[in-house]
Amino acid sequence: MSITTNTAITLARRPVGPPQADDFRYTQTEIGAVGDGEVLCRTVYLSLDPYMRGRMNEGPSYVPPAGLREVMPGGAVSQVVESRYESLASGDFVMGYTGWQEYSVSPGAHLRKLDPDVAPISTALGVLGMPGMTAYVGLDEIGQPAAGETLVVTAATGAVGSVVGQIGKIKGCRVVGIAGSEEKCRYAQEELGFDACVSYRQADFSDSLKEACPDGVDVYWENVGGASFFAALGLLNDHARIPLCGMISYYNLTELPQVPDPTPRILRTLLVRRVKLSGFIVFDHQAREQEFLREMGSWVRDNRVRYREDIVDGLDNAVDAFTGLLQGRNFGKQLIRVSPDPTRG
Ligand code: NDP
Repeated sequence: MSITTNTAITLARRPVGPPQADDFRYTQTEIGAVGDGEVLCRTVYLSLDPYMRGRMNEGPSYVPPAGLREVMPGGAVSQVVESRYESLASGDFVMGYTGWQEYSVSPGAHLRKLDPDVAPISTALGVLGMPGMTAYVGLDEIGQPAAGETLVVTAATGAVGSVVGQIGKIKGCRVVGIAGSEEKCRYAQEELGFDACVSYRQADFSDSLKEACPDGVDVYWENVGGASFFAALGLLNDHARIPLCGMISYYNLTELPQVPDPTPRILRTLLVRRVKLSGFIVFDHQAREQEFLREMGSWVRDNRVRYREDIVDGLDNAVDAFTGLLQGRNFGKQLIRVSPDPTRG
């Protein structure tokens, strides 16, 4: 049976504040012919990532904004249905930035072939994909954790944070997570092996973080911003490092919070403590992908790095799951199962 129709989610208008259902449209289009060098794929897993909120806004960033009335961009794992690209055949599994849709036609050269015998195909969007690589390169190049140091990581049970903390343990650090619930904190300690984990929602959060870091903080991994940043700022040791990976608590803001100017406190701490703070974007480090896949692959196989996925069924539920991701409703790497995974029984 040949496939003729595709369902996709397009961006109907730019969200103001938290995304609403009306900001998106479900569209049905005819699937065009597969050209020379192209591949028709059926999406199995769609990855939902916080950076997508930034792409919904207009204005300059490190990548152009998502286009209005165009398919929402995003990474996905798919199965090849028809190939006119010599290195891929029908039935192969691939990872590519094919967007929020059931089917895609794209150049085969833009897709990475996956081997389902090496690792579950979904991991190409999480621990063995962009989020895992973010943790790997950011920690190596900016965090530079040394044995015996204290590493604090925010959004600690998420796709990036969970890997940051586990690499910290491999490097011999005391690892302290910050997460949004007691359940997530328990998971960080019991399953991921963190030494401590503190919920930023508890009333005595700052005091608890201080208690969990008796020797101060040497590496503070920033995924969130806000209260966690200020709680950690006062605990930084001399020569601490801050990989500035994300600031999800600000992504839905429509205006800056009206608070006393915190700049003097921040700059004074960075200066007096000789702190190195550096933003980074994982896509600048593509040259390290093979090294990352080798080392992280062996850590995952040896169970030294564990991962958790939060899988929601159906493209229809993608918008709701995405709004949940920006509120901490996900528990682990957020995926949408767009069609059944033939590799899982
Ligand atoms: P996660 O899997 O960690 O999911 C997002 C988590 O962020 C939620 O589960 C929640 O965890 C926390 N969160 C959501 N909203 C808020 C809020 N308003 N205040 C505080 N915490 C919130 O996502 P990822 O691991 O994919 O991404 C983590 C961070 O890394 C993001 O900031 C993302 O933008 C950034 N990133 C940066 C990259 C780069 O190249 N620089 C590449 C990839 C990701 P909890 O319930 O624990 O609060």
